[in-house]
Amino acid sequence: MEQRHQDIRDAVAQLCQGFPGEYWREKDRERAYPKEFVRALTESGFLACLIPEEYGGSGLGISEAAAILEEIQASGCNGGACHAQMYTMGTVLRHGNAEQKEMLLPGIASGELRLQAFGVTEPTSGTDTSRIRTTAVKDGNSAYVVNGQKVWTSRVEHSDFMLLLARTSAREDGKRPHDGISVFLVDIRDAVGNGMTIKPIRAMVNHSTTEVFFDDLRIPASSLVGEEGKGFRYILDGMNAERILIAAECIGDARWFIDKAAGYASERRVFDRPIGQNQGIQFPIARAYAQSQAAALMVREAADKFDAGAPCGAEANMAKLLASEASWAAAESCLQTHGGFGFAEEYDVERKYRETRLYQIAPVSTNLILSYIAEHVLGLPRSF
Ligand SMILES: Cc1cc2nc3c(=O)[nH]c(=O)nc-3n(C[C@H](O)[C@H](O)[C@H](O)COP(=O)(O)OP(=O)(O)OC[C@H]3O[C@@H](n4cnc5c(N)ncnc54)[C@H](O)[C@@H]3O)c2cc1C
Repeated sequence: MEQRHQDIRDAVAQLCQGFPGEYWREKDRERAYPKEFVRALTESGFLACLIPEEYGGSGLGISEAAAILEEIQASGCNGGACHAQMYTMGTVLRHGNAEQKEMLLPGIASGELRLQAFGVTEPTSGTDTSRIRTTAVKDGNSAYVVNGQKVWTSRVEHSDFMLLLARTSAREDGKRPHDGISVFLVDIRDAVGNGMTIKPIRAMVNHSTTEVFFDDLRIPASSLVGEEGKGFRYILDGMNAERILIAAECIGDARWFIDKAAGYASERRVFDRPIGQNQGIQFPIARAYAQSQAAALMVREAADKFDAGAPCGAEANMAKLLASEASWAAAESCLQTHGGFGFAEEYDVERKYRETRLYQIAPVSTNLILSYIAEHVLGLPRSF
């Protein structure tokens, strides 16, 4: 398939050459944040591509953003360290007031401010966001007091602000289950030590993810984004962008695995011939390639609709589903092709294998996408 935005892709690939496997292996081993890589991406302006020009960004579309993230992954790097810096600001851009945008967007564009943490998931609510228990209670006209707990809040230690989803009224008091949820822009620099505590989670992948505890955290009333109680609708708007961009990362992963597998299969000789001469080795790689090309078409379709301002929920969800499954098929074929060496750190296969597996769980699991397609696209009876 012909690639679009080749100039952007070339520039990203060139930047990524400065961050080879050894760099990522060391970060992975130490579960350290790849700050040099994130700094290079920030300085090059790639993370500000979706911010409108009037706020200092490059005002590009999701199609260009997808090309950037795909190329990062295809180069063997990991955009998961900072991809949210690209799109989390979308909620403020679409629903924030003029002061919030002025305070935040130019700083994100220049790299002075980071907004790449999003606190949605809680230990007890899981995927059912309507049951979150974190509350924000208004105290007079000037403040809210936040209590509760989030889990899997990624990059919060490497962010100046976070978007926080909290209940401002009880689930039972709304007409619909998601009424009464609000979005807040929390200044982490003020909050930590004053009612907000961060506890890192050591996980299967190096993703800087954490638990966050709120214990009578006071935040200014001006932290509220948009109207009280409508927060869930605001974040839904941003989810399509997130799904498309994560899908693009999966396409990049699939490209990396397929290149790596095809290269190794051509070089590795067993029984006096390249292992790639055996169709048992060829076919899984070829199948993964076909799957990833088909998924890439769906990513393109979703991105085009998104950039045209057309409804794209079905396409964004299908892109995420198909691309995460294609990258996993490619990962499987790559690991199997490498035999025992696939388990050795130095080949980077086992690291990328762990990293790409995440995208069938987060930010939304495969089952929940299938449920969306069944119920919202095909009109099957609602299960919840
Ligand atoms: C490394 C990592 C980083 C993350 N970063 C963030 C972040 O920055 N911010 C954030 O808010 N969250 C984050 N998450 C959380 C992530 O979005 C959730 O893990 C994911 O949405 C699934 O929710 P859960 O873990 O609570 O699973 P659960 O809701 O407990 O579900 C468990 C399993 O049951 C399935 N299931 C649940 N209900 C149904 C149903 N009705 N029908 C069929 N199957 C069902 C799910 O698909 C899943 O496979 C992160 C997670 C990980 C692992």
